[in-house]
Amino acid sequence: MAYHKFDVVIVGAGGAGLMAAMQLPNASIAVISKVYPTRSHTGAAQGGVAAALGNQEEDHWQWHMFDTVKGGDYLVDQDAAEVLAREAIDAVYDLEHWGLPFNRTPDGKIDQRRFGGHTRNFGEGPVRRSCYAADRTGHMILQTMYQTAIKNQVRFFNEYFLTDLIISDGRCAGVVGYSIRDGEIHTFSAKAVIFATGGYGRAWSVTSNALACTGDGMAVAYRRGIPLEDMEFYQFHPTGIYRVGVLLSEAARGEGAYLLNNTGERFMQRYTPTLEELAPRDIVSRSIVSEIRAGRGIDGSDYVYLDVRHLGEAKIREKLPDITDFARTYLRIEPITEPVPIQPTAHYAMGGVPTDSNGQVVIDEHNTPLPGFYAAGEAACVSVHGANRLGTNSLVDLIVFGRRAGKHIAAQLASGELDHATLPADVEGFSRDMIKRVRSGGGESEVRIREEMRTVMMDLCGVMRTAEGLQQCAAKIAELQERYRHIHVNDPSDTFNTELMEVLELGNLLDCSEATVAGALAREESRGGHFREDFPTRDDTRFLSHTLAYRADDGGVKELKYKPVVITEFQPKERKY
Ligand SMILES: Cc1cc2nc3c(=O)[nH]c(=O)nc-3n(C[C@H](O)[C@H](O)[C@H](O)COP(=O)(O)OP(=O)(O)OC[C@H]3O[C@@H](n4cnc5c(N)ncnc54)[C@H](O)[C@@H]3O)c2cc1C
Repeated sequence: MAYHKFDVVIVGAGGAGLMAAMQLPNASIAVISKVYPTRSHTGAAQGGVAAALGNQEEDHWQWHMFDTVKGGDYLVDQDAAEVLAREAIDAVYDLEHWGLPFNRTPDGKIDQRRFGGHTRNFGEGPVRRSCYAADRTGHMILQTMYQTAIKNQVRFFNEYFLTDLIISDGRCAGVVGYSIRDGEIHTFSAKAVIFATGGYGRAWSVTSNALACTGDGMAVAYRRGIPLEDMEFYQFHPTGIYRVGVLLSEAARGEGAYLLNNTGERFMQRYTPTLEELAPRDIVSRSIVSEIRAGRGIDGSDYVYLDVRHLGEAKIREKLPDITDFARTYLRIEPITEPVPIQPTAHYAMGGVPTDSNGQVVIDEHNTPLPGFYAAGEAACVSVHGANRLGTNSLVDLIVFGRRAGKHIAAQLASGELDHATLPADVEGFSRDMIKRVRSGGGESEVRIREEMRTVMMDLCGVMRTAEGLQQCAAKIAELQERYRHIHVNDPSDTFNTELMEVLELGNLLDCSEATVAGALAREESRGGHFREDFPTRDDTRFLSHTLAYRADDGGVKELKYKPVVITEFQPKERKY
């Protein structure tokens, strides 16, 4: 048994985790990450980070707040959206001061470009709000912050896998994990813990998400009685590379790319005449699926084209170098001369571990905090994205709420409000038993369960949903959960046992999927990323509220509770673009 004691333990070294780590210069901090920090999914973010700097044209944080609320189909907590839009500006300047190489305007300011759903003057037309570094913004954020963290002597535990959250005397007391290198279990005692463990796109068969996006933090919290909020709201990004899922950023459409059907028509002009290709993602994804269902996919198949040819070679090379390379690599297509086949791809979790706007995890519909436990980034639900996230609003969520969580902990440490709790007896027992069980299980194969889960989630809990499909999906996930109890890890090794890790990740994905499907089935309306063909309109009378899914001790969703949405400035209206 290995034991560590820190003031603060941060699980996750993506944008949210690193941003939190920067705020705690006087505390002893450990950052635990299952991948090497710069391999976190934040590094894959392409398009940019939203902030109303107004460097290119007039812009105001109030406009950004409005777009966020409307884009989220009014399920956004507006107090949190105000914090996001206001503090985005300082948070982006923090990144600039740490040396992030943003693209620049001719007079040396941070350059900004258009992105879906970001508008001027409360919806009049597109605005340039996204700060960017070519189409590698996330990569630059991660490199810049990781280097700064190293300079600040943050202690990293790389290739450690979180398995459990320690709760003692009604407060969070630390975490348990194991070292992937040698299999040894480690206990980390802490006054405060932040989960910044990212999303769970790997639950779907076509996804833009990295292999590591398996919802571990969400599942670990859920198993310890913490609810998961708004899990039914999962975003499909419109432009994934056909069949592969790898993302072609909205930056392409921000720079002027077209979406074309089999007649060569720019069909988005029919669906959203004001914003055309730059409508929010849920709307564009649904429009693509509608075109395909109407037989207007390319060659009658299940994809349409993303076309950048008219932008010209120079602009493509300068502004969209990485994503055009993806088309060459994965499809052997030359985007300078050919349109690129795309389809919607599972992309982003609006839901997650519920928090308040200081990043404190809350455990019920009254927003009661669990002292010492925080979450930030895609693993958390604060909720600034509501039913649908706007492009470039995730990176800004990471840096604004990672920063706030870190600062809140720093203040609580300074005032002596947080302290180490006594750890329960046999604190590692749960993790040890879980690992032992999968290593001595029956004959079920990880690959088969995983592929069946991903297919059923894609087919029945994707862009379009029905009660019948979701019931089938729930039954299938329950069957897979049962089979998972008999899963077996064949590799007996303790050294870099990636099979063991994948099995644990699969367990986490199944738990996240179960909560997602339960929420989707109960929500008999269509809002943002959640579209029910049998209930095609939004129903504010019954469903202007957040879902909280609680797990039963022996597995399965025990109950769904509902929590009111915070409305301050903007009364819910029909969402027209
Ligand atoms: C291809 C792609 C492009 C995107 N482009 C944009 C964009 O342009 N703009 C935008 O705003 N958003 C974009 N997004 C969304 C955004 O990048 C993500 O939501 C965000 O980066 C998530 O950051 P995070 O810090 O929450 O988690 P991540 O960056 O996913 O990091 C998670 C961390 O948690 C650690 N972790 C997870 N599980 C465990 C465990 N069990 N034990 C130990 N450690 C663990 C991982 O090692 C990792 O360090 C994009 C997403 C994708 C997939």
